Amino acid sequence: MSQEGPAARPYAHPVRPALSRAVHDRDGLRRREVQARLGRDLDTRVLVVTEEYLVPVREAEGGPALHFRSAEAVDSEPAELTYLGTHDGIAYAMARGSRDIRADRWTGLRDIGAEVDELDAGLLVEAVALAQWQDRSLHCALCGAVTELRDAGWVRHCPVDETDIFPRTDPAMIVLVHDGADRCVLGRQALWPADRFSVLAGFVEPGESAEQAVAREVFEEVRLVVTDIRYVTSQPWPLPQSLMLGFTAQVDGDQTLVVDQEEIAEAAWFSRAELRNADRVRPKLPPPVSIAHRLITNWLGEEPAIPAWT
Ligand SMILES: [Zn+2]
Repeated sequence: MSQEGPAARPYAHPVRPALSRAVHDRDGLRRREVQARLGRDLDTRVLVVTEEYLVPVREAEGGPALHFRSAEAVDSEPAELTYLGTHDGIAYAMARGSRDIRADRWTGLRDIGAEVDELDAGLLVEAVALAQWQDRSLHCALCGAVTELRDAGWVRHCPVDETDIFPRTDPAMIVLVHDGADRCVLGRQALWPADRFSVLAGFVEPGESAEQAVAREVFEEVRLVVTDIRYVTSQPWPLPQSLMLGFTAQVDGDQTLVVDQEEIAEAAWFSRAELRNADRVRPKLPPPVSIAHRLITNWLGEEPAIPAWT
């Protein structure tokens, strides 16, 4: 699609988590205008997202790829399509549907988010995030009326009080706590299997900054006081609607871990050598699709040798 003036370019993070690799143009300024043309005079590829947020995948030579359809093939009117943006002159959209169309397999964001290419990763995470939000805003929060989808899927409108509801994202922080030398803290959540460990994380509370959330969560979960809180990178995690803000922080003073037992079952200090030792039985580390994996890899200076949980 031709545009007046310079084209928007997605920002490339210096430390790029799997789901922050988008290369398409979201084309946010033209959503309303584009909607009526989707699948008609615009070459449009449609990604079907099911009720369970599964998408169709085809097994290509270079690995799995999203299986896009034409608008006619998914039997959607332009008004039912959610516009995702444009890339190389092609419009991309999301439609809700079931698994009755043929695909090599149907799978979710967790499974293929790190395996698909940059274009697919960006479109997939946007499509799932919008589907999640649309499903969670069926009713107006003020009066309870059933809302109508508008603006190419980006607004839910209340016909009673004329309120427009926009997509929501909840900020959460995730932090690799280190000792300023060679060790970092990994914890196991109470609900996780015995070998599954990760860095610490939690939601940012109302009226709180992301850095304050880092300091508070680290203290609540393992009773460490931290300083030198540094932002590293971020990744959308629309399961259902989080934005993970990734940090590092250095322990300040006592390094004794005291686990709160409610959220965290256990926590320990691990050295870089331990995370490079492929023969270790514990811990297993977060999978490549997670920002936790990216934070650990960045701190380690290489991919961890010990296996990831799935
Ligand atoms: Zn209302």
